[in-house]
Amino acid sequence: MHDPLRSCVFRKLLAFTSFGLDSALLKSIQELGFTRPTPIQLESIPPAMQGRDLIACAQTGSGKTAAFLLPVMNALLSRPRRTTRALVLTPTRELAAQIHEDFTALSTHTPLTSAAVYGGVGMGPQEHAFRAGVDLLVATPGRLLDHFSKPYAKLDQLEFLILDEADRMLDMGFLPDIRRVLRHIPTKRQTLFFSATMPGPIGALAKDMLKNPVAINQERVSKPAVGITQAVYPVSQNLKSNLLVELLNRGLLQEALVFTRTKHRANRLADQLLRQNFSATRIHGNRSQPQRLEALAGFKSGKYRVLVATDIAARGIDVEDLSHVVNFDVPAASEDYIHRVGRTGRAEATGEAFTFVSKEEEGDLRAIERAINKTLPRVTLPDFDYNARPSEVLEVPHAERIAAIRARKAEERARAKAKAERRGGAPGAAPSSSRPRTSSGGSGRPAGSGGGRPGGPGARPSAGGSFRPNTRRRP
Ligand code: AMP
Repeated sequence: MHDPLRSCVFRKLLAFTSFGLDSALLKSIQELGFTRPTPIQLESIPPAMQGRDLIACAQTGSGKTAAFLLPVMNALLSRPRRTTRALVLTPTRELAAQIHEDFTALSTHTPLTSAAVYGGVGMGPQEHAFRAGVDLLVATPGRLLDHFSKPYAKLDQLEFLILDEADRMLDMGFLPDIRRVLRHIPTKRQTLFFSATMPGPIGALAKDMLKNPVAINQERVSKPAVGITQAVYPVSQNLKSNLLVELLNRGLLQEALVFTRTKHRANRLADQLLRQNFSATRIHGNRSQPQRLEALAGFKSGKYRVLVATDIAARGIDVEDLSHVVNFDVPAASEDYIHRVGRTGRAEATGEAFTFVSKEEEGDLRAIERAINKTLPRVTLPDFDYNARPSEVLEVPHAERIAAIRARKAEERARAKAKAERRGGAPGAAPSSSRPRTSSGGSGRPAGSGGGRPGGPGARPSAGGSFRPNTRRRP
């Protein structure tokens, strides 16, 4: 029977106000539209606020960022000091930028500050953050270690360490870097450890880092967030682009985050969509940080209807109300499927995840279905010509690509040889490689040389020491 008093008490217990958080944080939470805590927040925030270490199994989209930020921010507010006291370690730049953004939103009504520290951008502003002593740093391990080699980078007053997406750190080979980072921070601290899965090496790392932790939501198999409708479109490899275009043309996909297996395929697909007048962009490991941020911001603002991405870039992409994720290629690992699909239907919104599967990918798809313990429905698009000739082949066959590279290299070598012969073949002046020469007759300049005169002031090594004058070339 419905008991109005009991449900009223229950609702109050489920509210953010039940945690005893600082009123400035509650105000931001309200402004962000978070009406009630997600399950991971309900379980994590109380023990973390009591100062306990945590080990939490939480997938992207569960609200885990606020689950670790809120208790730490609350503690920082209760004992203000002008030094860096919290560090979040994350695997990717995108995730670091996202956490920094979430922190900024949650700290609107507080004096708390944070900075993101990751590679691909200048060290200067990050050095400033160290010197200024921001309250919280969000960092990728490699760039953080670069800073630790400098005298200004000290985190000896650190009180809170958060490790986010630890399993992805393992995948990306960051575990040794994490252990190196640990040598630079105090052992007396509170540690919050988050991972979507807990493979063996992650368990071992957690054991070394945590003291008597509270274990939360320790499921071995994670599942995509609720609210996501998943469907599979069987289609031949060559017709995947046509199918995507058709879904876009028919308005069955409003905007979409589209995952491909490789950077090459991401590039080719984005180019193809652009040629067909769809606003599309791409995000993958070969793109510079400004390019990645522009792509993400453009997708969030609606400038781009399609964002084509590879898995490395998938973590940390947080776009509100994303209606569709398309697995253009079936991911080889079920965890990648869960993370990709977790991009939509975040924090209880609804979304659709479509997976294009060719005959060759059926095996990988079945492995995913076993992992999520669910058979995904197969659907066909009515009136789509499944026997059509592909309008454009997405991938140039591997052998053809290699042949094209070889032909281009041979051409470059021939050009370099002809150029050397035109210069009259002075001794030592005709290197067989096409590297730019430093002699006064050459037009190229070595990187970092500044002046280009061997032996002159410009020939000294740059700060990085990467350039040495090539004395062999001097007559
Ligand atoms: P995360 O798992 O931390 O990447 O969070 C996923 C998304 O859920 C982000 O867009 C958050 O802003 C949002 N979010 C976090 N907590 C809540 C909440 N309690 N209610 C609604 N949305 C939330």
